[in-house]
Amino acid sequence: MALPPGQSYTQSPNVLTRMDRSHMPNSPMDAALDEARAAAARGEVPVGAVIVNGAGTIIARAGNRTRAWNDPTAHAEIVAIRAACATLASERLPECDLYVTLEPCPMCAAAISFSRIRRLYFGALDAKGGAVESGPRLFNQPVCHHAPEVYGGLAASDSASLLRAFFGERRGA
Ligand SMILES: [Zn+2]
Repeated sequence: MALPPGQSYTQSPNVLTRMDRSHMPNSPMDAALDEARAAAARGEVPVGAVIVNGAGTIIARAGNRTRAWNDPTAHAEIVAIRAACATLASERLPECDLYVTLEPCPMCAAAISFSRIRRLYFGALDAKGGAVESGPRLFNQPVCHHAPEVYGGLAASDSASLLRAFFGERRGA
């Protein structure tokens, strides 16, 4: 999730599925993008996450809260996982899917594994801070005992635009 100014974002080379947003105006990734925009408005790094249950209903949604909570672990994915577990009164989310606007970092990838999330859908690749297709590729390591199905590149350009705009504004401020 470390996103230094000037970093370029690219679409995932391993796009397994693509969501036609014109036909799915209320898709979970749209909700995640809304959370990312709300995070930016709070002065947080614009990353948003949504968790849906097996029926496709959103049960948790969150944006980054690291600044608001003075908590370096309050990435959108972690906040959403905690909320979903609280909602379900469960330490695991085996029927659930997580949508996040940016490739998860090592901390969040580990949390996704520990929570037994079924599928991970993410937006933009994060070549410097990501840990799924980039860097440590956590789900491919022997220390990882549960790997979700991974679908990258959903709404990647929208996700990356939010990040570029955010860091561009901060750099110019
Ligand atoms: Zn993270």
